[in-house]
Amino acid sequence: MSSAEGLKFTIHPHPNATPAARRAELMADPAFGRVATDHMVVVKYKDGVGWHDAEVLPRGPITLDPSAAVLHYAQEIFEGMKAFRTKDGGAAIFRPEANARRFRASAERMAMPQIPEELFLEAVNQLVRADRDWIPEGENASLYIRPFMFANDAFLGVKPASEYLFMVIASPVGAYFSAGAVTVWVSETYTRAAPGGTGAAKCGGNYAASLLAQAEAKAQGCDQVVFLDAVKHTDVEEMGGMNVFFVFEDGSLVTPPLSGTILPGITRDSVITLAREKGLTVREEAYSIEQWLADARSGRMTEAFACGTAAAISPIGVVKTREGEARIGSGTAAGQITGALRTALVDTQRGRSADAHGWVSQVF
Ligand SMILES: *Cc1c(COP(=O)(O)O)cnc(C)c1O
Repeated sequence: MSSAEGLKFTIHPHPNATPAARRAELMADPAFGRVATDHMVVVKYKDGVGWHDAEVLPRGPITLDPSAAVLHYAQEIFEGMKAFRTKDGGAAIFRPEANARRFRASAERMAMPQIPEELFLEAVNQLVRADRDWIPEGENASLYIRPFMFANDAFLGVKPASEYLFMVIASPVGAYFSAGAVTVWVSETYTRAAPGGTGAAKCGGNYAASLLAQAEAKAQGCDQVVFLDAVKHTDVEEMGGMNVFFVFEDGSLVTPPLSGTILPGITRDSVITLAREKGLTVREEAYSIEQWLADARSGRMTEAFACGTAAAISPIGVVKTREGEARIGSGTAAGQITGALRTALVDTQRGRSADAHGWVSQVF
């Protein structure tokens, strides 16, 4: 038992935890998010009671009333973070306080109760400790952690719910994309987020709205979709699950500004800091798709990359639109600056370089 904000976690260890040999088999080459660990965290919320009944439980199905509000009105938010094995056999999480803060901001936008940051962090740490044997070793491997919260009122009226479940689950993962550069499709049919909407909140509904655009990208032979702004349909925003950076021949970088329609990525923020430390200029400014095609074709743009927790930093090799396509740099591999930023990020996450910003939080 331990406490956060006075709340004690009751720990119910899995009675039939996955045997070590089976676990090793599952962890050898896990597809993203397919392999479940043995435990989950559940914390309940009810208006008038607050946060209560914090538990670490054997992972398993949960029961919902068919009128549970989340199933009808999509009041749901989530986070994505990673625990890494450190050299000494311990485990560390990258910038968990930033996830806790963003979770509160997402909750506010979705009219949900705000979980205290200490409780969020304690819940994540409890799960990582319970599932400590599930944190894989290996260069691209980590334990992906998924905190989430949803409305659990059994009531069909449209209003903010009065009951919620906060849960944390985890999954050992390898590399998100296979090596090499991704190809991106710029959707001119669909947008992800409009001013005043929920684009800056990490809510499930944003993903529901992006899936058809992602399918369109696949149909065009691309790996990922890029969204444009919903007003002018000219400016590049993000990729629906990753933020985007452009690198120019003078060594400067551009990334779209946090205008309220872009998800404020923690990887994005980390990349800006790391790039500036390397003496590179980073501009947060609007950048149009027309300019992207022109700069890629003229060679003024030398590199482009996408970034997010799941994939870290992935080079973008080719950008395609209805009008045509353009190759960026070699079109196949990470350029020099993309590679250097990736190394700097990954080395910090894995405790191989000095943690100058206090970004690494040791769990055990
Ligand atoms: C989570 C997410 C990102 C990346 O954020 P990180 O904190 O870097 O993982 C980018 N865009 C969207 C829409 C996201 O949901």
